[in-house]
Amino acid sequence: MAQENGNSKGNGKINIAIVGGGIAGLALGAGLKKKDNVTFHIYESVPGYKDVGAGLALHMNAIKAMALIGDEVKQTYFDKALFMGEEDKEMSTEVILAQGPNKGELVAELGKAKGRKTVARSALLDGLLELVPKANITFGKKLDSIDETPDAVHLHFQDGSDVTADCLISADGIHSLTRRYILGADHPATEPKNHDGWQIYRTMVSADFAKQHINPKWTQQVPILLGPRGHINCIPLDKGTRLSAGVAVRGAKFTPTGEAPPLDPAIYSDYSAEAQAIVRLVARDTSASWTAADHDHAPTYYKSHVSMIGDAAHASMPFAGNGAAQALEDAAVLNHLFSRVTHRAQIPAAFSAYDSVRRPRSQEVVDLARKFGRVYAYAEEGMHEDPGRMKQFFAGAAAFTNNADLVRQNDDAMGLFEAAVKGGEGGEEVKAEDAVEIV
Ligand SMILES: Cc1cc2nc3c(=O)[nH]c(=O)nc-3n(C[C@H](O)[C@H](O)[C@H](O)COP(=O)(O)OP(=O)(O)OC[C@H]3O[C@@H](n4cnc5c(N)ncnc54)[C@H](O)[C@@H]3O)c2cc1C
Repeated sequence: MAQENGNSKGNGKINIAIVGGGIAGLALGAGLKKKDNVTFHIYESVPGYKDVGAGLALHMNAIKAMALIGDEVKQTYFDKALFMGEEDKEMSTEVILAQGPNKGELVAELGKAKGRKTVARSALLDGLLELVPKANITFGKKLDSIDETPDAVHLHFQDGSDVTADCLISADGIHSLTRRYILGADHPATEPKNHDGWQIYRTMVSADFAKQHINPKWTQQVPILLGPRGHINCIPLDKGTRLSAGVAVRGAKFTPTGEAPPLDPAIYSDYSAEAQAIVRLVARDTSASWTAADHDHAPTYYKSHVSMIGDAAHASMPFAGNGAAQALEDAAVLNHLFSRVTHRAQIPAAFSAYDSVRRPRSQEVVDLARKFGRVYAYAEEGMHEDPGRMKQFFAGAAAFTNNADLVRQNDDAMGLFEAAVKGGEGGEEVKAEDAVEIV
């Protein structure tokens, strides 16, 4: 049935359902609430956010993406973030070889800056939530299935309720149900994978306790100590009062039921003394450990009036520290595109433009994060024996993630959308893939 005013509700506005109230879903909502041409509602499965102690460092591209959605979004991050250590102290991530003939060599200093910050995921979510009107979000609402009719997208929830919308933008995380809907349950890229067998052993302790066991420097400064049986990392949190310490092991020998073996400090006896001390600290309590996974490349991020963003579209290993940043870039692009969508029939063109600019870049970050893991594990041929090559790799990665021109990314998407809409009105059809060069 054709809609006279081009949307399913008959109120003249495009009605968007967002599933998942994580960083991607809330940031998108914070932008959409400022638009007169759309209404939206966020459906989040959990009843409330829990503090799982995870700290995020948001890099330059994340800050730029938040600013594009709105200065208040960027400000929320700065209000919620805490200094890793002392405010006026210069900090960097020191990447050091912990094993082999060059043991002890500093191969890179990443992100050297005064007053480096991290934000607890739960604190960032609380801040973003304050930017979304309460009436526009429902907690405890778990999406169970999706279907589409010519006029609407239908969402069916686990509590038996149904919702109809003009389109669905799903930000439902790495185990996304929407990804299954878009790609198909049997598509090889649908389920997350752990190709390299990564297991992250992690502990959270007070900095005072850590100082009794490890080099006190690493309660104030971030090390990544590299070696073939795992890289070791410490992240000072909350102005240097708490420490998250971990060992990321590539090629862990999981049991057939998926259990990771216990962390055995004995197999690190050829690592540097300070690396061994951190392994022993982590091995005391590995209850904060987890098994990492990421997504193989999806051939598309949308189908008709349903799209996916953030980890649902491109979950990556944590080693490049850019997953949330990519989720924010997605939200920035869709927020920009939806300022011009006035008719339901234009939505696939908006999703196609989003897919064209965001899929190549976000999937390159997935690949980059895998490569970080291999470099850290001495598995990238000969690189650990050539610190110059390693430095070049880190510099190139930082330039790719941080220095991207996100205004241009938004503009490119809008150009594609407008060309497609114009094409649909009788002009020549423009194929999104042919018309854009990705930054
Ligand atoms: C240890 C660790 C460290 C990291 N460090 C960094 C870092 O330093 N910098 C960085 O940029 N990134 C980092 N990341 C990545 C970052 O955390 C993620 O990329 C980001 O949180 C993704 O946000 P999202 O909103 O797409 O997904 P999520 O945060 O996973 O949110 C998805 C939401 O959808 C909800 N949901 C799921 N299914 C349903 C359903 N069926 N119905 C309704 N709701 C549903 C979930 O409850 C959840 O709230 C790190 C990740 C990890 C694990």
